[in-house]
This record gives sequence, C-alpha cells and structure tokens, in this order.
Amino acid sequence: SVGQFQIDLTSSLGKGTFGEVYLGRDTKTFEILAVKVINLKGNEKQVDQITKLCQNECQIMQRLKHPNLVRFYQLQRTQNNIYFMMEYCEGGTLNSYIDKKCQKNQLKYLAESEARIILSQIVNGYQEMYNQNIVHRDLKPSNILMNKGVAKISDFGFSKILSDFDNQVLMTFAGTPLYMSPQILTSQKSRQYSTKTDIWSLGIIFYEVLYGQTPWKASSIQELMIKIQTVPIKFPAIPRVSDQMKQIISKMLKVDEKDRMSWEELFQLQIQHDQESLLN
Ligand code: ADP
Ligand code: MG
Ligand code: MG
Repeated sequence: SVGQFQIDLTSSLGKGTFGEVYLGRDTKTFEILAVKVINLKGNEKQVDQITKLCQNECQIMQRLKHPNLVRFYQLQRTQNNIYFMMEYCEGGTLNSYIDKKCQKNQLKYLAESEARIILSQIVNGYQEMYNQNIVHRDLKPSNILMNKGVAKISDFGFSKILSDFDNQVLMTFAGTPLYMSPQILTSQKSRQYSTKTDIWSLGIIFYEVLYGQTPWKASSIQELMIKIQTVPIKFPAIPRVSDQMKQIISKMLKVDEKDRMSWEELFQLQIQHDQESLLN
C-alpha cells in the first residue's frame, strides 16, 4: 500500500511502456481505482527522463476534468516507484471492448450506430483538450478506455500544452506507428505540433472501429509512409458504412495537413445523431 491506497499487484490491468497498471482501492473511501506503477529501479539511467515525463503527464491530467477523459486522482512517489492514481475503466481498452462485443458474431468492428456513439464521445473528450490547447500525440485504440460503455481518452504521456513548446523534445514513440500522422512518421520537426496530428490518428481509429482493420498495413515505417502517400484509402463494400462517415474519414486522413479536416470542422459535425445514419 501507498498512503491511503492499496494496490493489488496480482491484478494487472495492462502493461505500458514504462510501467504496469494495477487495480487499487482507496482505503478511506473504498473507491476502486487504477494505479499505474512506474518502477524506477532497473531504469537508473532514465530516472530523470521518466520522472519528467510523469510530471508532464500528471500536470496535464490534473487540468482535464471531463466525462470522456480519464480522471486523474493523485501522484505519489517513493524511492523506487512512481504511482499514478486514476479512474478505473472496467471495460478495458477500446480494442478489447470491441473484441468482447464481437466475440459472438466473430466480427472485428462495431455497427455504425454504436461506432458513432463511441466516436462522438472521443471527439467530445478531445474538445475539452482542444479548449485547453492540449495535444495528445498518441491517440490509438489502446489509449482509449471504456467505463460502463463510455469512451474516455487516456494516457497523456506524450501530451503537450501547445503554448509552451520547446523543440528539443524529440519524440520517442514506443508504440505502433500505424496511428501516427505522416508528419510524425517523417519526424518533420515542425516548429509547432499541429493539432491536426491528432486528427490523423483519430481518423485511423474511426476507420478501424468501423472496418475492423487499419486502412494501411506495413511492416516498416518506410513502407507505411510510402503506402500512405501512394495508395489511396479504400473503403471495403462490407461492412456497409454510410457515405457521410466515409467522407469524414477521407477528410481526416489527408496526407497534407492543409487539406486535412480541422478540429473546428469535426466539432461542428453531428457524428452521433445524423440524418443519414438514421436512413441507412
Ligand atoms: P503507457 O503510457 O505506458 O502506454 P497506459 O496509461 O496507456 O500506459 O496504460 C497501459 C495499459 O494499462 C492500457 O493500454 C490499458 O490496457 C491499461 N490501463 C491504463 N489505465 C487504465 C485505467 N484507468 N483503467 C483500466 N485499465 C487501464
Ligand atoms: Mg498507452
Ligand atoms: Mg503513456
């Protein structure tokens, strides 16, 4: 236990880059929570870097209070560990949620009507980040968590408040490049990280939730980059997806940021309640 919190080290909720997330309990309120434990011991060399990253994550999460953003409770530090107390999302990651939902029918995607609800929740969560000038930079299905059917953006480890940009922060993405925008893949150190980087990642997520796969597949970053630039996005005939949704995704996945949909445009759209989806 750490302070008033008990951590159940036998119930891992997931593994991350630097740490592992466990189920925990607040012994005062009896509330169940999720605790990300970052072990500093075997990481002697990286301690400063990891500590900085955690502080950044914690600073950003503290600002974000929204039903579609994972709520942060507290940070605790001991000599060997950093503990991140946060809202427990019992439904797990978006991909595991879809897997569970689709076990019966053996599909890997959601019906459009349900997809729209979840995707609009993600957009709503992002709107709060956008209002606070925060970019996420690591949006992908394993960083979207589900709590009682509600989608929540999580893992703000690579997030950044746009006003205080410093260029030497070179991004060390450990995750999959499948969701990274062309600008990040070619690591153009553009002076400001455009919030449109997150539009790209979300476009890939939209596609995957509706089709059960990502639009481009590759075994290396180079190959992926070439495919993105040369192979136009394809929308399979099955599952059937509305033209409106396809148009939205196409606009979100424009290689050139100038042509790509902006967040303002996306916020204007009624993803959840749409005429066309009711007719289909
Ligand atoms: P990392 O920054 O190392 O990627 P994450 O914060 O994404 O770590 O957490 C890693 C994994 O742990 C997630 O993909 C998810 O499976 C699980 N997890 C993280 N936070 C929670 C939470 N609040 N509730 C439930 N599971 C979680
Ligand atoms: Mg993660
Ligand atoms: Mg992280």
